[in-house]
Amino acid sequence: MPSSNKDKPKKGKNVSPPKGEGPNIWMQLGLALVVFLALSAGYSLVRDYVTNKSEEVPLSQIATDIDAGKITAITIEGDSLTATYSDKTTKTSRKESEASLTQTLSGFQVSPEKLGAVAIDIKDEGGIRFWFLTLVPILVPALLLFGVIWYLSRQLRGGGGMQAFTFGRSLARLISPEDEVQRVTFKDVAGAKEAKVELTEIVDFLKNPKKFIQIGARIPKGVLLMGAPGTGKTLLARAVAGEAGVPFFSISGSEFVEMFVGVGASRVRDLFQTAKKAAPAIIFVDEIDAVGRIRGTGVGGGNDEREQTLNQILVEMDGFEPNEKVIVMAATNRPDVLDPALLRPGRFDRRVTIDLPDRKDREDILTTHARQKPLGPDVKLFVIAERTPGFSGADLANLMNEAAILAAREDRKELTQFDLIRSIEKVMLGPERTSHVLNRREKEITAYHEAGHAIVSSVLPYADPVHKVSIISRGRAAGYTLKLPFDDKRMQSKKEFLDDIAVSLGGYIAEKMMFDDLTTGASNDLQVLTSLARDMVTLYGMSDKMGPMAFDASRGRAMFGNGLEGGERSEEVAKQIDHEVKQIIDSCYKKAEDVITTHKKAFVAIAKALVEVETIERDEFEKILIANGVTPKKKEDIEHQPLA
Ligand code: ADP
Ligand code: MG
Ligand code: ZN
Repeated sequence: MPSSNKDKPKKGKNVSPPKGEGPNIWMQLGLALVVFLALSAGYSLVRDYVTNKSEEVPLSQIATDIDAGKITAITIEGDSLTATYSDKTTKTSRKESEASLTQTLSGFQVSPEKLGAVAIDIKDEGGIRFWFLTLVPILVPALLLFGVIWYLSRQLRGGGGMQAFTFGRSLARLISPEDEVQRVTFKDVAGAKEAKVELTEIVDFLKNPKKFIQIGARIPKGVLLMGAPGTGKTLLARAVAGEAGVPFFSISGSEFVEMFVGVGASRVRDLFQTAKKAAPAIIFVDEIDAVGRIRGTGVGGGNDEREQTLNQILVEMDGFEPNEKVIVMAATNRPDVLDPALLRPGRFDRRVTIDLPDRKDREDILTTHARQKPLGPDVKLFVIAERTPGFSGADLANLMNEAAILAAREDRKELTQFDLIRSIEKVMLGPERTSHVLNRREKEITAYHEAGHAIVSSVLPYADPVHKVSIISRGRAAGYTLKLPFDDKRMQSKKEFLDDIAVSLGGYIAEKMMFDDLTTGASNDLQVLTSLARDMVTLYGMSDKMGPMAFDASRGRAMFGNGLEGGERSEEVAKQIDHEVKQIIDSCYKKAEDVITTHKKAFVAIAKALVEVETIERDEFEKILIANGVTPKKKEDIEHQPLA
């Protein structure tokens, strides 16, 4: 199905075939091995020839043969000796290094007369033979090594335009406008209306650059897409290329990070050159924060390679002719860490923010991804959209896919609403761990813990209503309480934060109250609520005592500008912050404790039901509340609350 093909933008073609991926590393190693074997075989052949191999015999044999008068001459060369027989054959042997031949032979009882009849010739070890035998075994490997090093360094410098050796990494990927399978257009991107409007201008320019140039308009060089992970930045960039029908060269910032110094810069140079030749074209640098972090702060250890790569990108962008028809797009989810030099006019001066999708957009994205999937009659995508606030486009695509997998596993031909609902939780919380069976006591503790969260969330006016409570472990959590707001929230108020903290404390309080003991199960809750309380004091100005001021929470310093600088504040301030955080948590604790004691009957009923059935859905949950004298929240109640 095409839509899922489009989900994988990574497998494009390589830029310009001659520079392509090149023969892979195994082929190269194999070739080196073959060359090496051939060389060593050649060496031993030549050596045998030079040493004109003849039969090797023990020295005692030579001695006997001298005694028998068969040998006419002996040539000594170092420790080896060659005996020439009367029939002109030769035999070789070896003697001890220290002793002279005559000494050795007399040791073998050779008579001096017989020995005198033999012509003994002592040669210096030297000449070609000597040099060949001693030097070649040392020189050849050394030369080979030098050869390989030279070859590699040439490859790495990327000189000569030949890049056969790329360590298995590919260069920029290219999606050409003719590639129907990989082509993406704005139709494939659901929602993101503002971003599309902004980008339409870029599309217009790429389609018809003349119109803009004639009227003297300065053409944008760089467009920076900013947004949370999975919001469709990469997809949108590809869609711009698809809409305009121009080639799309993409490379990811993270690919530069672990490379050798200089490689990144030369790749950038190459990439820009290739793109200019193909103009009009788009160059897309994904995850540009990996190379574009603020330079020279020493944060992250000052990576030379990164700086060089970034510099090269800037140099290339500055070097564009005024009307170069190449547009550089980049994406990041950390615009806050980008080097200001990147954002200067003439560089990435167009910035497009992509928000998480709202309810309508989520429905559209779900619809887009449901195109190739047969949906059953009971499927209502708007309900799924309602239940997935905070999901990104990628999460929703993932959700659809999980649902299809569920249906396929159960051999069904259509997706049902239940498949989708189960997939929400899977995407949100990780897969159920059915193998992780709680023992009786753990089960009870978890049930009361979750009931604690659930009852506080149901009673406090600014907390979100409960959709589901479960004591089946998922991901790291032993159980979970799923609460969802009635509407998407763009802002959060102080009262909501306070109720959230109380809800988080509900589990802890429940354990303490029922078992007079605590487990490690509450530790994640405590982390979350503590950092929320700290943010209220240090970031949002929600503490009356500290007032409307933003602090660097870790050091109690007031923040200025981007928060990197700022005067040191006294210990006193840090202490006051800690005190305020504790105050907030204490008051929320009291509130949550009150709720649980007042509604103990409902609280215990929920816990008991959980031990029995393990998972309670919203309808069932509200019935339990009503039966125990708690009125469930309705959407209208929330809307009529005074603005918090
Ligand atoms: P980002 O680059 O922002 O992290 P991607 O562009 O890689 O996100 O998105 C990942 C996947 O999520 C896409 O391939 C697509 O399947 C899906 N997706 C994200 N946003 C949308 C959207 N607005 N419409 C349709 N699909 C989307
Ligand atoms: Mg991306
Ligand atoms: Zn909890």
